[in-house]
Amino acid sequence: MSSPGRTSLTRRVTFAAAHRYRRPDLDDAQNAATFGLCARPSYHGHSYTCDVSVTGDVAPHTGMIVDLGVLDRILAEEVRERFDHRNINLDVPEFAEDGGLVPTGEELARFIAGVVQARLPAGVRVQRVVVAGRSGRRTSPGDARHGWLSARSASCSPAARRHGCAARPRGCSPLHRTGECAMPH
Ligand SMILES: [Zn+2]
Repeated sequence: MSSPGRTSLTRRVTFAAAHRYRRPDLDDAQNAATFGLCARPSYHGHSYTCDVSVTGDVAPHTGMIVDLGVLDRILAEEVRERFDHRNINLDVPEFAEDGGLVPTGEELARFIAGVVQARLPAGVRVQRVVVAGRSGRRTSPGDARHGWLSARSASCSPAARRHGCAARPRGCSPLHRTGECAMPH
């Protein structure tokens, strides 16, 4: 017999959004030194995938942790509506440049974990959120080989965060970066 608490359900929501990384307490040169290409002032776009895993007891009469329609509505309202075709720095107050969160994959994962958890029915918990972003394709002729400029993903587990585990960047090459936060048992 499987352990009910270990059963999870993962749904993917996608969105496209623009952002840049900028700390207001740093000047342009310091922001560029800290954040590289992502600090460029004119913003840039990514296509994001966001995988949200929830866990809880499987109800015997439905075989479900949560009604899929309920979860999808929450993801549509809290993730897609909030971020899709937006400028994250300008359109999402929590990521405002005058003191908000830097819109990295790690911070997006942590933020999404929080807002989704707040909407879930009793007994259902966010187990993990993974946010992966890719840059938009260049469309200039002859430059197609440079199509995907970067890919990164980050994940957040609220339970791990409660236990003091911060999302930790891994594989920090300019072309690919993954952040992961493992959940303790
Ligand atoms: Zn970026």
